[in-house]
Amino acid sequence: MPTTQGPGYNAAVEGFRETEYPMIKDSVYLDHAGTTLCAKSVMDAFASEMTSALFGNPHSASPSSQLSTSRIEDARMNLLSFFGADPAQYDLVFVPNATAGVKLVVDAMRSQPQGWFYAYHQACHTSLVGAREEALDSLCLDDDTVKSWIDGTDPFGDSPHQQPPITLFSYSAQSHMDGKRYPLSWSRDLKRANIDSDSRIFTLLDASSFSATSRLALDDPNLSPDFIVFSLYKIFGFPDLGALIVRRSAEFIFDRRKYFGGGTVDMVVSGKEQWHAPKSHFLHERLEDGTLPFHSIVALDIAMGVHLKLFGSMDHVSSHTSYLTQRLLHGLNRLRHANGAPVCSIYTESSGDPESLGTGPAVAFNIRNSLGAWISLTEFEKLASLKMMHIRTGGLCNPGGIASALGLQPWEMKRNFSAGYKCGAENDIISGKPTGVIRASLGAMSTVSDVDRFVSFVKEFFRETALPTPMAEDFDGLEATIPVGQPRLRLKAITVYPIKSCGGFSVPPGVPWEIRPEGLAWDRECASVDALNKEIRSRGGDAVEDRTFRANIVLEQADGMKGQQAFAEDGWASLCIGRQNFKLLGACRRCQMLCVDQETAEKKEEPFVTLAKTRRFDGKVYFGVHMRHDPPSRNDYTSKETQYPTIEVGEVVNVESRD
Ligand SMILES: *Cc1c(COP(=O)(O)O)cnc(C)c1O
Repeated sequence: MPTTQGPGYNAAVEGFRETEYPMIKDSVYLDHAGTTLCAKSVMDAFASEMTSALFGNPHSASPSSQLSTSRIEDARMNLLSFFGADPAQYDLVFVPNATAGVKLVVDAMRSQPQGWFYAYHQACHTSLVGAREEALDSLCLDDDTVKSWIDGTDPFGDSPHQQPPITLFSYSAQSHMDGKRYPLSWSRDLKRANIDSDSRIFTLLDASSFSATSRLALDDPNLSPDFIVFSLYKIFGFPDLGALIVRRSAEFIFDRRKYFGGGTVDMVVSGKEQWHAPKSHFLHERLEDGTLPFHSIVALDIAMGVHLKLFGSMDHVSSHTSYLTQRLLHGLNRLRHANGAPVCSIYTESSGDPESLGTGPAVAFNIRNSLGAWISLTEFEKLASLKMMHIRTGGLCNPGGIASALGLQPWEMKRNFSAGYKCGAENDIISGKPTGVIRASLGAMSTVSDVDRFVSFVKEFFRETALPTPMAEDFDGLEATIPVGQPRLRLKAITVYPIKSCGGFSVPPGVPWEIRPEGLAWDRECASVDALNKEIRSRGGDAVEDRTFRANIVLEQADGMKGQQAFAEDGWASLCIGRQNFKLLGACRRCQMLCVDQETAEKKEEPFVTLAKTRRFDGKVYFGVHMRHDPPSRNDYTSKETQYPTIEVGEVVNVESRD
């Protein structure tokens, strides 16, 4: 294997691909790195070993069982040495995946008699976020809060709980969303800063993404995480296994773990008396409940050998993938629509910052059309699949990273959920914002050709080569359909009623208010009162008297225009407020609710009595009309405005009569 990332290296990878990975000949594999592939030589060696030796269930004295036991211990030692971890300092526990490793740590934390505090970094995978549910108190920290913790400011300073003796801090060595890397020295720095505190800090380092293409060197004295989790299939492709490495000085945390199972005990008494003695020599003996996946562990040992033979060292993989990542970033960054607008909004930093630790091989981005509107991820994914581009889109199990990249506030995420958005849903652009990202991730088996084919795919399908029809012309065309001489109206008031049968909030002039598929933003949404209150406070504005009718929208005559007759709305078919079209659906039936004074809750006769005399048809009282937003469909171009339609007090209103 050539040691540099240049054409020689790439040619070598292409050679491997031909012989080792024939199944991806026509595919561009951009989902976790190409290393999630199974090398043919691993499969061959595994098949040959399985058919020439008998591996028995470990824990007995038979030769087949002893063979399994010794292969498992070899694999354990080889893996520790792959990470530079001295067995005198660290123990390694085999687990099904990284998440299972996290759960073992959480199990140990749960058994602490005085509870524990939990802090996790915002780029954490959901598997680490979920641990918070077991803690006495938990916090999500960004880079600045971690730094100030290191500088001596305890983030739990305001906690209503008394500080327990144990605090766990989790973070990812590398974000699996955008590839951003975080200082491996954080655990050392936090421990130093916290030396005088009553609460001891333990660090859980998630190396699942980082270790896929970089060497995690636990022999570096500056690294001192207590627990480290790995997804081994992201490094070696096969088998599907994970690992938890525990620093021996932190092993005592597991002493109070209650559950035991399989061969994790030296003696169990059950019957009239109940007593057991956990195995005491190695931590892994106490934590590996049940039969280990011994065939998989044999495969792992083989895969490690093949990995070494193919790539030489992790450093080769690392420099190759860094080179490809820069090429991908550059390729996507350069794509421009005919009007000059960028095709991709990229969230991955293409780091010029000298402080930065660099970026792992993951590029997170979204695509916009030439008018700035977002391309739906579902749309993108369908096309990508057709073109054999294997790529991941959506929330990527990274809630904090996504929220920070897309500028989504917690209330927006809750609102999106209440509007029907879930992980993997098709309606992925809500209120003019995407709800997820596209992630291309590269690995040891990725090539220059993968990167170039992917960039060409985005260019071919998403770059607009003709100038778009300007929206303004389109709307002028619409206004021209309204008969000349029609009286002009203006939007006098917008009121939203967040809680059914309670008072409304008047949208102040000058504030564009969003129209959603289900109605006006915040109308009748109990997803969100706190957030609404915040919104109201930040925008100010008093209620108007028209609110008695609980109308959302009130129109008035524009100055100097011919008057409309009262109740003229009964004859309207549609209207256009500013740039938004509405269809009128028929008169509103009224109930006595409109006689309740919204300030005092006092019930009065008027205006129901008068309306009942003048506006009663078929035994029911009607006043005003229902209307439905009619989003533009005849327009080929989705624009920012159509993804985030708004109306504003003061806008001109044109009406079209029924005949
Ligand atoms: C893949 C990944 C996980 C989850 O790993 P599993 O092996 O699926 O449990 C957690 N964190 C990061 C950073 C990952 O990349």
